[in-house]
Amino acid sequence: MKAAVWYGKKDVRVEEREVKAAQAGQVKIKVQYAGICGSDLHAYHHGVGIQEGDKHPLSGQNAPLTLGHEFAGVVSELGDHVSGINVGDRVVVEPLYHCGKCEYCIQGRYNQCTQFGFVGLNGDGGFAEYVVVESYMVHALPDNVSFEEGALVEPTAVALHAVRHSKLKVGQKVAVYGAGPIGLLTILSAKAAGASEIYAVDVFDERLNLAAKLGAIPVNSAQVNATETILQQSGGIDVAYEAAGVQPTMDSAIAVIKKGGEVVVIAAIPTPLQVNFFELLVKEANLTSTLAYRHIFPEVVSLIAEGALDVKQVITKKIKLDNIVEEGLELLMSDKSHAKILIEING
Ligand SMILES: [Zn+2]
Ligand SMILES: [Zn+2]
Repeated sequence: MKAAVWYGKKDVRVEEREVKAAQAGQVKIKVQYAGICGSDLHAYHHGVGIQEGDKHPLSGQNAPLTLGHEFAGVVSELGDHVSGINVGDRVVVEPLYHCGKCEYCIQGRYNQCTQFGFVGLNGDGGFAEYVVVESYMVHALPDNVSFEEGALVEPTAVALHAVRHSKLKVGQKVAVYGAGPIGLLTILSAKAAGASEIYAVDVFDERLNLAAKLGAIPVNSAQVNATETILQQSGGIDVAYEAAGVQPTMDSAIAVIKKGGEVVVIAAIPTPLQVNFFELLVKEANLTSTLAYRHIFPEVVSLIAEGALDVKQVITKKIKLDNIVEEGLELLMSDKSHAKILIEING
């Protein structure tokens, strides 16, 4: 089968790989659509986030690894001791390895598992014609949710988990910093949660135009002072979501929230930022963060099925697996007009 395999920084090869068999407790999936994520870009451009050296304790794998953790497809084979899933089922994969035994897993906080890992970064992923995953990762897709939408469930879960984890109440005002895929899906999630006004802050007009289509008020922080603009128009924000993760956006997020407000960090910020704790203290405000998601895939799928989350709107391009490097991993770095690029695999 064809697979996009990470060998090293700037070295992702589309090559023939053997199709693995589903072992006990595992499910083989024929992939239909897969989405390219920011963490795939980090792995490709910076060589970070991939399982190198020792094998991952739960996947038993290390690089070279097939990328891809946002995907949907059809079940094609079951290993022994798998129940509740049938060959031919349309499914989406929640790509988190977790041990089920550590303190955090026992509390149900499996996204905090001490052996946490991602399919597609710590084990072979979905940028391939077939992928083998653990049966506990598999969720059913109803017939009225397309495979394209299925490929968007994972990043939407990140956004919805952040919104649900936050203090946002119906009718409150929101600012979302960063209008990339996660920022855009956070806008949709905040809208679904009943936010009355949503400000989207970015420096690229193309992304802000998409944000505006989703119902946000665009603020281009390269052209105007985002903090002043938002404060003037809104009178203060209840919850700011930080999906950009740079110093100016962090400063602005803290500055625009009301007394008692909240800043939620969703971005994986690689370098330490300064935080104005005095301003937080004076406002008695919360600064919090969320990691991935837990116990939320079925709800994301239902919200998409009901039309409450129109996630298709963040798709800006569909490509073939053969062209993943030029038309995906390279293009997403050079052309910021794109949000989510999907790879059509067996479709
Ligand atoms: Zn991702
Ligand atoms: Zn665990």
